[in-house]
Amino acid sequence: MKVYVTQEMVCTNNFLIFVYIVTFLPIQLVICHGNIYVDDGGPKDWPNKYPQCGGNRQSPINLPSICDALRINNYGNFRRSKTFTKKPNNVKVSVTDHGVEIKPTYEYGEQVTITGGPLQDTYVLEQIHFHWGSNNSVGSEHTIKSKVYALETHAVHYNFKYGSFKNAINQSDGLLVIAYVYYPQWITKSKSWNLLTKQFVYMSDTNTTESDITGFPALTDILPPFDSNYYTYSGSLTTPPCSESVTWIVSGKPVPISTVRLRALRGLYGIQPGAINNFRPVQPLNGRLITVKINEAEYILKCIFGRIL
Ligand SMILES: [Zn+2]
Repeated sequence: MKVYVTQEMVCTNNFLIFVYIVTFLPIQLVICHGNIYVDDGGPKDWPNKYPQCGGNRQSPINLPSICDALRINNYGNFRRSKTFTKKPNNVKVSVTDHGVEIKPTYEYGEQVTITGGPLQDTYVLEQIHFHWGSNNSVGSEHTIKSKVYALETHAVHYNFKYGSFKNAINQSDGLLVIAYVYYPQWITKSKSWNLLTKQFVYMSDTNTTESDITGFPALTDILPPFDSNYYTYSGSLTTPPCSESVTWIVSGKPVPISTVRLRALRGLYGIQPGAINNFRPVQPLNGRLITVKINEAEYILKCIFGRIL
């Protein structure tokens, strides 16, 4: 059977393709490549859509020098589950609309938990994610004495008594985020970061948004444990819906990170435009109390001798 294609049919088809592109493609682009840090006015306009983002307990914030904040030295040591020092069975890596997150899973469904320090309850690790910039002068969400760092890691936990992240998100004591800020250095050693760097490059090259890593070391490597030299305050999630349910614990000891690793993170921009400059600007403190734990020896060294020398 012969099929005759007339000029009119070609134009009609072209017109239909044009209508499809104009009508549906922008929607698809928004769905596939939405960037909450740029779209619809970015973070300053989040409160219009998510009222909690305009609340008075928002994060991140600018932290003072650890020497100038209120010291509370009766915070005991943290108590972490044994899983914290155990190799996960698998680590799931997912590129999301605001960066990349990793989620470790363990044999028999074991969980990673933490309590102690300033915490009244036990918190369960949900996921770990990162905030970074397009160059080394930006990236962190929290700043220390107004200094911006190149990267910030957030280990997001939910309060065990609420049973899940979803149930905990709207409770004032529902979530805990442990944060680390990083400064760039030429070479750094970390098995976790070696594996993540390779994975990020692979995912960028193959346009993959979900993958798994086996052979990942214990979390002590990527979340160095500390019992002193940290800040704590009441805040919020730093992405919409900005729920005011987070107890923040921010390490006062910036961690070195190699520029190769930062470049691998930045490469994820190719598959998700939200995966770069994914940091919210600092928010007003609104009279909130920031307390710190720093042991006596560190205090003397850093805050007394450090200031004289
Ligand atoms: Zn975060």
